[in-house]
Amino acid sequence: MKGRKLLMIPGPIEFEPAVLSMMSKPTTSHVAPDFIESFGSCIEMMRKVWQCPSGQPFIVGGTGTFAMDMAGSNLIEPGDNTLVISSGFFGDRFSELLKRYGAKVDLLTPEIGNVVTTEEIENALKQKKYKLLTFTHVDTSTSVKINPQPIAALGKKYDVLTILDGVCSVAGEEIKQEEWGIDIVLTASQKAVGVPPGLALLVASPKAMEAFKNRKTPVGNYYADWGNWLSIMQAYEGRKPSYFGTPPVNLVFALEVSLKIILKEEIDKRFKRHNTIASSFRAAMKALNLKIIPANDAIAANTLSAVYLPKDVAGTDFISAVSAAGVIIAGGLLKDSKPYFRVGHMGSVNQTDILGTIGAIETALKKCKFPFTPNAGIDAAQQLLVVNY
Ligand SMILES: *Cc1c(COP(=O)(O)O)cnc(C)c1O
Repeated sequence: MKGRKLLMIPGPIEFEPAVLSMMSKPTTSHVAPDFIESFGSCIEMMRKVWQCPSGQPFIVGGTGTFAMDMAGSNLIEPGDNTLVISSGFFGDRFSELLKRYGAKVDLLTPEIGNVVTTEEIENALKQKKYKLLTFTHVDTSTSVKINPQPIAALGKKYDVLTILDGVCSVAGEEIKQEEWGIDIVLTASQKAVGVPPGLALLVASPKAMEAFKNRKTPVGNYYADWGNWLSIMQAYEGRKPSYFGTPPVNLVFALEVSLKIILKEEIDKRFKRHNTIASSFRAAMKALNLKIIPANDAIAANTLSAVYLPKDVAGTDFISAVSAAGVIIAGGLLKDSKPYFRVGHMGSVNQTDILGTIGAIETALKKCKFPFTPNAGIDAAQQLLVVNY
């Protein structure tokens, strides 16, 4: 027996063995030539993964929330009007976070399982001059996915800076930052980028950097201040030593390995793989008569799925039963929703992982005495996997 369970939560995820083994490389100096080379190469590869050739990448120790802090604190000045387009827990977090930097926030929130429509966003933009808008690509609390392209276009039309919370989407869902015109796309290492937790990652457009340079007031967060980090990123890219705060050396080496894996797979093929795995998982849930939170498949994420529990099945019993069957999944994050569970399927995920997860879910449903047609979930998933692999 392998003695470990399959980790199918929306981050941290199952990491590639090459990434994990790089984590155990003896830690070197943050100004050692091989580290400088690795850092510089991560910056160059981020532009490719984000599809933003003229963007400025930032790699800083921290979590996804810190990436949100970095984006917010560097662009917001006290009194700035900001529009937050939420689709759940993390949109609400962005709103709270921006207020700390003095932003005046208007929050657009949809019904659980839906997205704020483009019309509603445009109406808000017509009514008030905003400096900035934020939106969540995939909200990890609901597995609802928004289409970033029309929102980015509205940002351009109304001359509003746009920040995409891509923590649960970068390297898992299609994003063309430069072509779509998004000013900041941010993420964290432990999700689809595929590196253990600890790195805040973002790419800023030339327009975002310009807005930062034109600030009249100091950045309200010392650690996040691009005034401290920009020259560090430029130095590493120019293969020169530099220091502001000690970078997480092992994580950066691991990031280099993971970005290489992502680019070798080819970014479009990677998105397609996520789509195939997610569609087969959703088909399985449907065949088991379980309902996903997103109102329809067009707004269902490819990186995770949030699924309502059957009425008579208790969340804790179900999640422990899935764990007893060898797979770790997550509970719900929204307090005011009907009980649900979440399954992450991003990064290194493959068809064996998803079939194993569906199998463990079926085992748990059996244990919880929920009736379903034997193997219905596995069978529905296989029908899609067989045509896509
Ligand atoms: C995970 C996540 C975050 C927060 O990231 P942490 O690393 O936990 O701070 C923010 N936004 C979204 C969409 C996420 O999925």
